[in-house]
Amino acid sequence: MQVFKFGGASVCNAEGVKNLTKIVDNYKNEELLIVVSAMGKTTNALEALTKAYFNGKTEEMRSQYQQVKAFHEQLLNQLFEDRSHPIYDDVNNFFVEIDWIIEEDAQDAYDYLYDQIVSIGELLSSRIVEAYLRSQKISSMWIDARNYIHTDNNYQEAKVDWDKTTERIQERLPTLLKDYILVTQGFIGSTSENFTTTLGRDGSDYSAAIFASSLQAEHVTIWKDVPGVLNADPKWFDHTELIPELSYLDAIELTYYGANVIHPKTIKPLQNKGIPLHVRSFIDLQSPGTCIRVNKHTLPVPSFIFKVNQVLISILPKDFSFIVEDNFSHIFNLFSKYKLKINMMHNSALSFSVSVDYHENNIAELIKELKRQYDVEFQRNLELVTIRYYNPETIARVLVNKKIIMQLQDSYTCQMLIKDN
Ligand code: ASP
Ligand code: MG
Repeated sequence: MQVFKFGGASVCNAEGVKNLTKIVDNYKNEELLIVVSAMGKTTNALEALTKAYFNGKTEEMRSQYQQVKAFHEQLLNQLFEDRSHPIYDDVNNFFVEIDWIIEEDAQDAYDYLYDQIVSIGELLSSRIVEAYLRSQKISSMWIDARNYIHTDNNYQEAKVDWDKTTERIQERLPTLLKDYILVTQGFIGSTSENFTTTLGRDGSDYSAAIFASSLQAEHVTIWKDVPGVLNADPKWFDHTELIPELSYLDAIELTYYGANVIHPKTIKPLQNKGIPLHVRSFIDLQSPGTCIRVNKHTLPVPSFIFKVNQVLISILPKDFSFIVEDNFSHIFNLFSKYKLKINMMHNSALSFSVSVDYHENNIAELIKELKRQYDVEFQRNLELVTIRYYNPETIARVLVNKKIIMQLQDSYTCQMLIKDN
C-alpha cells in the first residue's frame, strides 16, 4: 500500500480537487490512503477566527467565519451541481460545530479552543475531496483521523501516542484498504478523552508518515506545487536546482534547519521503517521529483535555508558568574514554556545566545521572566542562513552586503545569523 499527502495548495480551488482526482485515478486499483490538509489558506483564516473569538473581537471573528464559509460553499458549487448532494449538509454541519463553540464567550484555554476550531479545516477538505472522488466513480471512504491518531493533551503541539495509534491503525485500516481508497485528515488527532488536538502547523506531512509507518507502506508521496526538494527556496534564489535523491539524514538535517518543503517530524518515522518518501509536483506529473531514502551519497549541491525575522536573545548572569548547567535547564524550560523553538544557540563563559523566530507576545513574556534572574539583551530583524555542504564560495554568496552576528560551523553545516550592512 502507499500513502499520498496533498497539501493546502493542491486543493485550493475546484481545479485542484479535480487535479487530485486525476492523479488518484491512476492508482485507483491499488491500496492507497490519502491525507489532505485544509484547503488553500483555510488554516490561517481559522487561526485568525480563533484569535478574534478569544479576544472578544466579534466583528473580526464573524468576518473570518463568513470568508471561510463562502470559500467552501463556492468550491462545493463548482464541484457538485446537484444541490441536494449530501455533501452540502456535511459541510454545513462542520460550520454548525464552529457555531456551537463561538456562540458563547470564550471560557477555555486558547490552545484548546484553537484545536477545536482550526481542525475543522481538515475535516472540511477531506470530506469534500472524498465526496468528489466518489462522485467520479472512485471507490473511496472518508475516515476520521481522530479515531486513529491518539495524542496527549498538549494542544497545538500534541505528542503522538505511537503504541495506541499503531494498534488502532493496524486493527481496522488494512481491511478497509482492500476495498476503498481511504481519505483522511492531516494535522489532527485526539486525546484519550476524545478532544481534538493538532500536531503543529504544517503537520499533515507528519500525519502521512504516521499512517505510512503504522501500515508499513511501500512509499509515501507528498504532492507539492514545486518540482521536488530544491537546494534553496526560489523565494530567495533565482537559480535553484532540483535534488533528485536525498538521504534520510540530509533530509532530516535540511528540514530541521527550516527547509519548509517537508515538516521536520516526517522523516524519522519513515527512516525507522525504511519507507521511501517521494516529493512530487502535482502540476507536472511527468517530473520525477525527489526521492528520500537510504543513500550513501551526500547532497550533490550545497543547500541553502533562509529564516527571516529572527531575534537574537543574549542571556547573561547578573553577577558576572559563569553560565552553568543549572542556568541552562532553567533557560530551556522557559523557552519550552513559551513555545519558542531555538533555531541556533551559542554559549560563551558569560553569556548564552539564541536565535528564535520573532513572536511578539511570547518573546515579551519570555524576556520579562528571564529578566528576573539574568541580564537580557536582544536584537531584532536578523536573518538566519544555514548552508548544508558549504564551501567558501557559498558563504561569500550569502554575505553580500551582510554582516555576521553569530556563526556556527561543523564539517557539513554552516549557520550564520546575519544582518544588513
Ligand atoms: N493545515 C495545516 C497548516 O496549514 C496543516 C498542514 O497544512 O500541513 O498548518
Ligand atoms: Mg499547509
